[in-house]
Amino acid sequence: MKKIFIVFVSMFILGMSYTHTSAKSSSKNIPICIDPGHQSKQNLEKEPVAPNSKVMKAKVTSGTIGVKTKLPEYKLNLEVALKLKKELLKKNYKVYMTRESHNVNISNAERAKYCNSKKVKLTVRIHADGSTDRKVEGISVLYPNSKSTVSINSQSKKSASLMLKSLIDTTKAKKSYGTGLVPRTDLTGFNWSTTPVILVEMGFMSNVSEDQKLSSSSYQKKLVDGMIKGIDSSLK
Ligand SMILES: [Zn+2]
Repeated sequence: MKKIFIVFVSMFILGMSYTHTSAKSSSKNIPICIDPGHQSKQNLEKEPVAPNSKVMKAKVTSGTIGVKTKLPEYKLNLEVALKLKKELLKKNYKVYMTRESHNVNISNAERAKYCNSKKVKLTVRIHADGSTDRKVEGISVLYPNSKSTVSINSQSKKSASLMLKSLIDTTKAKKSYGTGLVPRTDLTGFNWSTTPVILVEMGFMSNVSEDQKLSSSSYQKKLVDGMIKGIDSSLK
């Protein structure tokens, strides 16, 4: 009887310490924004590329298309984004989505401002790449590096680097553009951000094998696993 009591007490203590540890490392309520790139209809009206800038760019373009699957990028982006949202919710993140359907009209500046308004710790913009060279493949992660984003440049770069590392670990894909890390000064969706932001280019839809991989649920799971690890590690 005594033995059973001791076993019971030990299990109780173990359980308590486990609960305590998991509560400590929990992502409870950390706000994250996900921006699935593009939408079903592009909007070529123009908006300033940055606050106080005279340079104007299209509000939101149509994105690329799968060379083999014929899947439009905006559909792929949302498909992966919704899976990422589901996994983030399981980990108790608070998730904000700039869109959850295709038939919307939200400019890149508006997407950034939406995420700013939610005071998120990180925005992950989800895109796929395209090239006229069908041999080009691989993943890259973009981050802001302009004067208008000075306050978020270094945190965004750190998150981009951790995100790239975990994505390459889970997918075994190549890094595109050399290092796979790409600083940008010209993206409206970055320049209007006041909270850290990165953009994942999941692969090239212009490459036959990568296009097919990108639309498979097993590869999408690897991408989502990599994104979760990247988010977890950059918000530690
Ligand atoms: Zn795109």
